[in-house]
Amino acid sequence: MRTEVFIAGGGVGGLALAAKLASRGVHVTIAEQLKSKSRAYKGELLQPKTLEILHRLGVLDEIEASGHVIDQLRFQEIKRCPGREPENIQLTELNYSRVASRYDHALMVPHETTKDILREKAQNYEKYFHYLPGARFLGFENGRAKVRQKKETIHIEADIYVGAEGRSSPTRDAMNVRMKRKEYNHHFLTVTIPRPETFTKGKIITTTSCFLGLFPLPDNEVRTVYLIKAGEFKKIKQKGLDYVYKAYGDLEPELAETVQAITDWKDIQLMIPHTYHVDRYVSGNLTLVGDAAHTVHPMAGEGMNLAIQDADVLGELLAWCKEEGKSYHEHLHYYEDVRKPRVSFLLALSHMSALVYSFSNPWWRKLRMRAVQRIYDDDQLHVKQMLNISGLGRWNFSLLDRAIQGSMLPVRRKRISDQKQQDKLFSEQEDYPWKF
Ligand SMILES: Cc1cc2nc3c(=O)[nH]c(=O)nc-3n(C[C@H](O)[C@H](O)[C@H](O)COP(=O)(O)OP(=O)(O)OC[C@H]3O[C@@H](n4cnc5c(N)ncnc54)[C@H](O)[C@@H]3O)c2cc1C
Repeated sequence: MRTEVFIAGGGVGGLALAAKLASRGVHVTIAEQLKSKSRAYKGELLQPKTLEILHRLGVLDEIEASGHVIDQLRFQEIKRCPGREPENIQLTELNYSRVASRYDHALMVPHETTKDILREKAQNYEKYFHYLPGARFLGFENGRAKVRQKKETIHIEADIYVGAEGRSSPTRDAMNVRMKRKEYNHHFLTVTIPRPETFTKGKIITTTSCFLGLFPLPDNEVRTVYLIKAGEFKKIKQKGLDYVYKAYGDLEPELAETVQAITDWKDIQLMIPHTYHVDRYVSGNLTLVGDAAHTVHPMAGEGMNLAIQDADVLGELLAWCKEEGKSYHEHLHYYEDVRKPRVSFLLALSHMSALVYSFSNPWWRKLRMRAVQRIYDDDQLHVKQMLNISGLGRWNFSLLDRAIQGSMLPVRRKRISDQKQQDKLFSEQEDYPWKF
């Protein structure tokens, strides 16, 4: 079998890449090991840059119709009072609207829905899109991809091979890349539960020692993420589901009833955060996108976004090469040039956010509360934080910023104009430099 671009893995990264390539007349074949939808939880928060990409792909209306708008990130610090409602001691609301872009919100969309929409988009170009379900990519043999489907072995020859297999990637193995893995002192329990209709705003609720992230989904559901110490899952399971009901109810009384919809530990997924980043994305005609190349701590909700953003840049590059009759091999480096620094930056930002919630000392909490509030009080910090996590641009934090955030210097009273942000937003030239 022959194709122009072979993609191992039909997750969000592989599908976004395939949809773009097929829509631009590039023959693309995906081998996806699963035959049907996965029940495992994966990311659901689509950041503004991803919405921009999905808009250009022509699927934003469907995505918006399947999503719940998140226009703020809300951080609530509480004090638990036995027998009484918890006392709210600080609520900080950071707004996506501070970013000077029409994409002024994020969206919670069930992961499998995003995949369905991308797959259906690609299927509109049936002449160019070939999807092999239940097909496991095993590695390379004589320069071709070796795929096992229904007990048969298929060899696929392509101009470019893309590893989009997620965390365990035979393509990455074949590229012989180097990467360092970072572990954390905490894990998460994650589960979707019903929510009251009025519970529409997401938030992260924290005490000195507890963390509960709540992110509303459509259909009156809410994705919950509860932090536990690394290695504690077994002990918590032994305490029974009542432990979970109480933990949630104590932190968010509004969900005390609906959390009891969890009736089986099987509904609750253990999420073990770790990070890595490969030292190169391209080797000959092999390349990596998404989790095959990097994973990120889930605190900033970036993993799925990085995968789709990788796919956008690589897809645009490969489509341009074909349209302009340029050599793939000579231009592939542009993909890494654009994406690697951006991913490194967001990996560092997510790591910082993870550290903020990694320690349970009262003095650490005090520092955290002050630092989070300062992001809101100082407009430059506010804009930088939201711009950076939106993926729409990059504006580095300076020493002065950090000194203000750490309360060593007073907050600045000046509001950042939209004009001032313009050169911090990624331009088309920065996204796709080979065209210029
Ligand atoms: C528990 C959990 C929670 C997360 N929460 C968030 C979040 O809140 N926000 C966020 O943005 N990100 C989150 N992420 C990260 C996000 O899910 C990933 O970054 C994103 O899915 C990466 O997309 P991908 O396409 O690179 O890989 P994946 O989504 O992992 O897709 C890889 C695909 O390749 C297939 N595959 C694997 N090996 C082979 C093979 N050998 N042959 C053929 N097919 C193969 C797999 O079946 C899968 O369909 C979370 C991840 C996990 C695990």
